[in-house]
Amino acid sequence: MATRDDILVELGLTPTWRRREAVAAPLARLVADVAPQVLREPRPATSPPPAQDAETRSARIASLSWDDFAADVDACTACGLCRTRNKAVPGVGDTNAGWLFVGEAPGAEEDARGEPFVGQAGRLLDNMLAALGMARGRNVYIANVLKCRPPNNRAPEPSESGACRPYLERQVELLRPKLIVALGKSAASLLLDTDATIASLRGRVHQYRGVPLVVTYHPAYLLRNLPDKAKAWEDMLLARRTVATSVGKMTSIPPPVA
Ligand code: SF4
Repeated sequence: MATRDDILVELGLTPTWRRREAVAAPLARLVADVAPQVLREPRPATSPPPAQDAETRSARIASLSWDDFAADVDACTACGLCRTRNKAVPGVGDTNAGWLFVGEAPGAEEDARGEPFVGQAGRLLDNMLAALGMARGRNVYIANVLKCRPPNNRAPEPSESGACRPYLERQVELLRPKLIVALGKSAASLLLDTDATIASLRGRVHQYRGVPLVVTYHPAYLLRNLPDKAKAWEDMLLARRTVATSVGKMTSIPPPVA
């Protein structure tokens, strides 16, 4: 007579149970092998290393060479913009240039490419340079006050400009340009330490640590305010006259005023 087990085998319903140890033993071995390692091995660090104090950081940046400069900016976490940038934008151009153009901050295209003034505003700047017989990369260096893009292209916060300032100061020192052109309010305010309007600052030659400085409108502003292009052109001509009458590149730049 068929037993109960025979019937279950016939119906394909076995096995109906399994010894618990058969399943538990491999699992127990796995836990025994892996758990001590998990407990021993330190978790990878998820938070950035502690920030250097501002003085130590400024001193380190003040000793950077051109070779180290871009990598240092790329690794910078001194302000919150490091968390939202795609690429840092250190600057671009001839590192022996006589002309230094300083804008505000990278926009979306600059943030994607890691190069300043590559969008529509950049094309306008290139056209202005061409009209003066110049080109980016040929006796021209282009940088921004901020090396990382502020979200939604908002204006730089004072804390961000302050944190990024040592980089611009180092660029001026390395370059020792014959002339600085401040493009827009952020650059003029930072370099001249003033809150005055562009309209009141343009049309004359200022000084930044002994380097002649001309203020003009930011190309992005000019794209929205075409009548002011004529004024910007006057500023470029003033800049060219200033370079023509300057004696040459400075041999040293005085330290920043504390
Ligand atoms: Fe550093 Fe300047 Fe970028 Fe801020 S904006 S993270 S200070 S490089």
